[in-house]
Amino acid sequence: MSPKQSYWSRVKNWASTLPYLGKAFGAIKTAGAELLRLPPPRAPDDVANTKQYEEHKSKSYMDLKMAFRDIGRMNAIVETLGRDFLTAMPEGAYVSRLGQIAFLFRRMHEELANENIANLINEAQDHQKKDPGNWEVWDKANLREMETMYRHVSHVPPDLMERKARLAYEGRRKHRDVLKCDDWDEARPFLEDMVDLQRRIADAKILKDNDHATDAPYQALLREYVPGARLTEVDALFDRLETKLKEILPWVLDEQAKRPEPQPLIGPFPAAQQMWLNKSLLKVMGFDFTRGGLYETGHNPVEGGTPDDTRLVIKTSDAGNFLDSMKSALHEGGHGIYIQGLPRETWRYQPVGQDLGAAMQESQALLIEMILGRTKEFYRYLAPRVEGLFQKFGDPAMTADNIYRLKTRVKPTLDRKSADEVTYFFHIRHRMRLERDMIAGRLKVKDLPEAWNAGMKELLGIEPTTHAQGCLQDVHWFVGKFGYFPAYTLGHMIAAQIHDKMKREIQNIPELMASGDFMPIQQWLAAKVYSQGRLFRTDDLLMEVTGSKLTPGPLINHLQDRYLEAA
Ligand SMILES: [Zn+2]
Repeated sequence: MSPKQSYWSRVKNWASTLPYLGKAFGAIKTAGAELLRLPPPRAPDDVANTKQYEEHKSKSYMDLKMAFRDIGRMNAIVETLGRDFLTAMPEGAYVSRLGQIAFLFRRMHEELANENIANLINEAQDHQKKDPGNWEVWDKANLREMETMYRHVSHVPPDLMERKARLAYEGRRKHRDVLKCDDWDEARPFLEDMVDLQRRIADAKILKDNDHATDAPYQALLREYVPGARLTEVDALFDRLETKLKEILPWVLDEQAKRPEPQPLIGPFPAAQQMWLNKSLLKVMGFDFTRGGLYETGHNPVEGGTPDDTRLVIKTSDAGNFLDSMKSALHEGGHGIYIQGLPRETWRYQPVGQDLGAAMQESQALLIEMILGRTKEFYRYLAPRVEGLFQKFGDPAMTADNIYRLKTRVKPTLDRKSADEVTYFFHIRHRMRLERDMIAGRLKVKDLPEAWNAGMKELLGIEPTTHAQGCLQDVHWFVGKFGYFPAYTLGHMIAAQIHDKMKREIQNIPELMASGDFMPIQQWLAAKVYSQGRLFRTDDLLMEVTGSKLTPGPLINHLQDRYLEAA
């Protein structure tokens, strides 16, 4: 073959490939457009995370899923930084860490509260209307929750969110210090800043609802913790509970006076052994230590984290009383098994895969800590074990009956965290009134100590002599959680209502508790509550699980059964 022939045959060969080249160029062009069309990279964390990555006919919804996944990832990073802040961070990193957390909060807010998200939500909602057959219940709920999250913060400026995050972490440390030194003068300006910020955030939140009743800002804050809550409904539930509790409290105290006082615990109870006990109890409850942990710090207890990394923080043990750190571990453990039981394998980071907010969270914590964790049967399981662990053989304070009486002793206290189950509500009502007045501008921070003491006298008949025993005791206001307190009592009511149903479906709960076999209870809760994420809203889930909307009846019955039984 001559070079000339070879040249022409090569040209001929090349020409014959043109149609294929044309096709290939076309394919590259389409793929390029496809790549440009995709918003964030879709690299999955976990290929088995089926629902999060499952393609959907609505492109806008698909884009929303990826946007919320990235918001969820940022939130998980903040959670991890926050846990580290409390447990392991060296002192010198304090200032830079505040900056990192505040920055990420701002970024998260910007990713959520923008026009693009609003448009995508509108488009996905249109798609759902036109093509309902392509929307499964979980996808519908996911879109609904995306909209709720967006609406809740869409009018809040990013600067306020950044400041909120910074103050929340500064506040945790500030609270630890002012509490130690009983220092109201140091606390006051910080709380003034915090109330001012909260009022500005609340005002931004209610712009949308066009609702300017006096307590609308407080209701807007409350909704961060109890989504969709109406203040008038919460007030009505609390009024009913208060009337009933005021009626039964004197009877409870009368009954109690007929019985001998419980023996006080005599320590020491070494911290390492308390921690061993607490971790063992969490394992019994079904807490998975391969995806979480329990830590002791000088800070107030903190629940939270993510289903993949659920690190619970409790306050350093008191050597004189192992029951306090155990109570914290059971409480945070209740939060922890709820978080770990969320549908992470299908809906990780998606709004529908998250918990139902503070009221449902507290219900799961209080169900373990207060309702199941204060039964005679549980102490029958516990007593021989702690008697051996702490080497207190034959100590009359360590019997199941004595521990039960210690833990069910009703006595008005100055301190919320050590309050008994009957008077606990009054602490909540007290705080709710004060924070509502501060947000409405009816109560100035400078007048808080006086208002605090007056309210304690009115509701519980006792008055603190120090600020640390009074208005400085809780961390909530220091970390900006205005509107959180009602979640405890709503949670207590939810817990009692769920427990009522659980008793009917699992008939041997007392025997299970006495033998330390918590698995059937954990599995029941996982199926009914944890794994449901936000498929239902709180009211609907309660209806689904218990057949009734929230009512104080089951809590009142529970308290009467436990505290008014014959001696
Ligand atoms: Zn809690």
